[in-house]
Amino acid sequence: MSFTLPELAYPVQSLEPNIDTKTMEIHHGKHHAAYVTNVNNAIKDTPMDAMSIEELMANLDLTNMPVRNNGGGHYNHSLFWTLLSPHGGGNPSGNVALAINEQFGSFDGLKEKLSQAAMTRFGSGWAWLCVHKGGKLEVCSTPNQDNPLMPTIGCGGTPIIGIDVWEHAYYLQYQNRRADYLANFFNVLNWEVVESRFNTFK
Ligand code: MN
Repeated sequence: MSFTLPELAYPVQSLEPNIDTKTMEIHHGKHHAAYVTNVNNAIKDTPMDAMSIEELMANLDLTNMPVRNNGGGHYNHSLFWTLLSPHGGGNPSGNVALAINEQFGSFDGLKEKLSQAAMTRFGSGWAWLCVHKGGKLEVCSTPNQDNPLMPTIGCGGTPIIGIDVWEHAYYLQYQNRRADYLANFFNVLNWEVVESRFNTFK
């Protein structure tokens, strides 16, 4: 069984002005598509071919760089697209809002922590909000296409928010202004999906 590029649930232009159309086209249609092609080639005719993407991440041999980079890329981006919505933004609500307020003081407290994780990631990588079993939240970041599902990565639980801070995610529109991209990411963040993931994985 091979992986396929998931379709976006919204038109590529619909996240304007927060994320521009050209970036969405290239990011989804070229970058993510390449991760899918490359991970499929890397797992072909191996036992990994029978695994879900989550199983592949959890059982990853970190020395297997083609699967680490491209399998990670497929998992991370598949999550990322679902976290974006033209109707996103605003404040969290529901159980995840309660947990955020309890553990970070406020939504602003979380934003500050996530933005700090994203800003201090040197080079390419991701900033994450993860939930552990029991409901504890953790903010962390990983390099390249690593993610919290990978073993011994120093960042645990299940991601409920992932922010792509590779330059390919923002450079056409924001150039070096990663902080502006991060601020605007929250304008298109789909809190319904975050809440749903929190309730599923807590
Ligand atoms: Mn990306």
